[in-house]
Amino acid sequence: MDGENVDLICIGAGFAGLTAALRARQLGLSVIVLERQSEPKQYNNSRITTGVFHVASNDVRLGPEKLIEAINIETQNYAKPDLVRAIAENAARVVDWLKEQGVSIEHETSMAYVAGRAHLVLTPARAMRAGLDWHGKGGDRTLGVLEDKLIDLGGRILRGVEVAKLVMAEGVCVGLDARHDGHMLRFGAKAVVVADGGFQANLAMLKDTVTPQPDRIKVRATPSGTGDGIRMARDVGARITEVGAFYGHIQAREAMHDDRLWPYPNIDIAATGSIVVDGSGNRFVDEGRGAVFITNAIAKLADPLSASVVLSRKIWDEVATQGVSPPNPELTKNGGVLIEGADLATIARTIDVPGAALAATIANYNAAVKSRAIDRLTPIRTEKKAKAHVIEAPYCAIKVCAGVTNTMGGIDIDADAHVLADDGKPIPGLYAAGSTTGGLEGGPNVGYVGGIVKAFVLGLCAGEAAARDSR
Ligand SMILES: Cc1cc2nc3c(=O)[nH]c(=O)nc-3n(C[C@H](O)[C@H](O)[C@H](O)COP(=O)(O)OP(=O)(O)OC[C@H]3O[C@@H](n4cnc5c(N)ncnc54)[C@H](O)[C@@H]3O)c2cc1C
Repeated sequence: MDGENVDLICIGAGFAGLTAALRARQLGLSVIVLERQSEPKQYNNSRITTGVFHVASNDVRLGPEKLIEAINIETQNYAKPDLVRAIAENAARVVDWLKEQGVSIEHETSMAYVAGRAHLVLTPARAMRAGLDWHGKGGDRTLGVLEDKLIDLGGRILRGVEVAKLVMAEGVCVGLDARHDGHMLRFGAKAVVVADGGFQANLAMLKDTVTPQPDRIKVRATPSGTGDGIRMARDVGARITEVGAFYGHIQAREAMHDDRLWPYPNIDIAATGSIVVDGSGNRFVDEGRGAVFITNAIAKLADPLSASVVLSRKIWDEVATQGVSPPNPELTKNGGVLIEGADLATIARTIDVPGAALAATIANYNAAVKSRAIDRLTPIRTEKKAKAHVIEAPYCAIKVCAGVTNTMGGIDIDADAHVLADDGKPIPGLYAAGSTTGGLEGGPNVGYVGGIVKAFVLGLCAGEAAARDSR
């Protein structure tokens, strides 16, 4: 392998890397995908994904203008306009392209998590129930289809090859160095696509950016995303966007050590319909801004394992049974603990918070809900994504933790997936796609646009831009 020269190398065999590679191969480039894992089924986020296609929780076929509006609302205009347009204009096209390759994508009514609308899903769909069931499911099948197609067309995937460094010559990326079997190999390429998938499994990077205590959050993902791409790109002068936000869900505390309790059930709908308190018994986040926002706030607590959801039995029975992934009854069926108590003192004792503080929190909250003055609470409570309910006896509580699925910030790119330098100009020969990139998601609202659409669209754009640039 040493000394090989090709037109394009993709770092990472997830959806982003394989899409970029296959599209570039179809457009005539010679391509290699380098994948760190040596197993035939690399265990990455694409493999275990639930596979719901959406753009900021909207159907990808809504049309570009409506999708642009949806992303801007979700991110409160944090997302870079050129990336917003790239996603909105290519979301439906990438679904058609994937179907042409043989990927199975269907409307799934069981995934109708936005007001009864059935989303497109990689099929066979994973059940959104407790534990991981990825074998033979949409993500697993899709990786197989893309890999087979790439190999049929003469592209290659080299496994067990860990990319360590990008190689530059006079400001142009001309290849990379990678480890294989204890040796360092150099590959030459006219274009390199970084698609190594975020840094959610790199505890040191998480500590610098996402949480003060990375060992007290749950990585709700595979261990494959270690941030190598961000480090390597930064080393050659790439601009890195703000990196403090992540996509994730609220998990039962027991998920920290019990694999039945992640990636589902999540506790989202119980939390957004009630309150979340920290170890002092006080609210610390606007629960109405949704589960991704709350999860980020939990991770940022001085002790991320001090948060609990407190609700009424009525909310548990009537609200927490709704949605695509209801925690009632999945939580208790799978080893999670629902704390129940006739009075708040019992709840406070069990979740280990001061009883007087919890009682005051609930009294203030209930008064505000009843008098429609939730905007005067501290922190404010909105109903942007969920309705506020009065919390009354009998009570329930769930000790929770922050489940981190994938980081949102990363390598700064333009709409053609060119990596941008600190001066905002593209670094020739260097592209990035998927969860390793930034500029689309995050910001003060922790806007979530969608990991699948980001990986496939940016992968497609990277492959096409590399082919165009090579002419
Ligand atoms: C449980 C779960 C459910 C999800 N559900 C949804 C959903 O329903 N809808 C949605 O939109 N998104 C969802 N996502 C997110 C989405 O699946 C991911 O954002 C997307 O698949 C990421 O693709 P990627 O190609 O960027 O990265 P990955 O799939 O993580 O692939 C990156 C690859 O790079 C390799 N790599 C890393 N470092 C190196 C290196 N130095 N050298 C060589 N190779 C390297 C890794 O081994 C890995 O194979 C979900 C994620 C999870 C975990």
